[in-house]
Amino acid sequence: MEPMKILVLNCGSSSIKFGVFQSPNEKRVAQGIVEEIGANVSSFTFQKRDAETWKKEITAKDHGQALDVILKELSNPKSGVLQDIFEIDAVGHRVVHGGEMFSKSACINEAVFQKIKDCVDLAPLHNPPNIQGIQASLWHMPFARQVAVFDTAFHQSMEPQAFLYALPYAWYEKFKIRRYGFHGTSHQYVAQRVSKIVRTPLEDLKLIVCHLGNGASVTAVDHGKSVDTSMGFTPLEGLVMGTRCGDIDPAIPLHMIRIQNMSANQLDQTLNKKSGFYGITGGDNDLRIIEQKAEMGSEKHQLALEMFSRRVKKYIGAYAAIMGGLDGVVFTGGIGENSGSIRKMICEGLDFLGIELHSDFNNENRTCISTKRTAVFVIPTDEEMAIAHEVIHVLEKEMQFNQKAENFQ
Ligand code: ADP
Repeated sequence: MEPMKILVLNCGSSSIKFGVFQSPNEKRVAQGIVEEIGANVSSFTFQKRDAETWKKEITAKDHGQALDVILKELSNPKSGVLQDIFEIDAVGHRVVHGGEMFSKSACINEAVFQKIKDCVDLAPLHNPPNIQGIQASLWHMPFARQVAVFDTAFHQSMEPQAFLYALPYAWYEKFKIRRYGFHGTSHQYVAQRVSKIVRTPLEDLKLIVCHLGNGASVTAVDHGKSVDTSMGFTPLEGLVMGTRCGDIDPAIPLHMIRIQNMSANQLDQTLNKKSGFYGITGGDNDLRIIEQKAEMGSEKHQLALEMFSRRVKKYIGAYAAIMGGLDGVVFTGGIGENSGSIRKMICEGLDFLGIELHSDFNNENRTCISTKRTAVFVIPTDEEMAIAHEVIHVLEKEMQFNQKAENFQ
């Protein structure tokens, strides 16, 4: 395939993270972020490969204006990386929720765009800014291919026994209540990286991928497919996270409604924003700070680290059992990639699964950190890069398909 330039857009409610990548190796040529979209003054941060990061104030009343600034800066003759925006061959959009409609990334046409809009009910906070980003991008770059990459798509391979909750079946049929799982692009990307490193097809591997960042999830990847994952109907389920509670007894919120008259919004805030590390430590959600304070003797900070690691360990055990074996555990995300001490706590006592860490390699964040039968990897993920990788994959597939069709004619 001809070399391509791909712009990746990751649109949040008041921000757009972006990256420009060049195929064939997904080399990142620039990245940046527009923040405080909609405020009187917005900020634009930009970094060209191997250059200093710089920041300036801009006006961006909406995502369209923000994208306008991004494109102008990318093609700025002095500081940009493109001669003009027509160099952009494809735009990859992060879309949080694809519901049951998308089991893989999709080139955006009218029907696909409508389906993404139909998923708003499932992710009322996340999908609308993604949609605004797509709309702005179609307007500014009608010449480029537009590809939607879904956080949920990789997990659509789960079987009903994994994705259903033991609730009235009608809730699934009427309200689409089921496990969807998130971070799919990252789980898939790092699993593919491992397959390349060990030169073994994904179809021959049983992997557990631990994406440990501020948001965190674990996925069982069996024969290249997600067979179970810790996040659920929303990203609230599963691991202990920066500010999210993860698994709890669902009767607890009901109890708090009864005894404290808490509203849905208050509970939502507490479970999503005031729990996890933040809740246990009384206000800290950054692992680096928590590790420092635990080191200085804070029992609550130490407890938070132990609760976090124990929960990950519990999922590793569960998923090894679900897959009936384990070839490798993969750590990724800000915590997974950088904290040797958390990886050590998680892996301690797992020698019965063939897991033992090489302590020096673990402390040095090396790629392969195990000494025993089950391999343990540290693989950096990067949402934008994973999306660029997906875009290339989708367009390559499309080209092969077109070529076949041409040969057939
Ligand atoms: P998200 O993308 O979900 O917001 P990240 O993947 O960036 O989160 O991870 C953020 C977490 O990673 C924070 O808790 C942060 O403290 C932790 N982290 C980042 N760098 C390090 C490091 N060098 N050592 C330990 N933890 C780190």
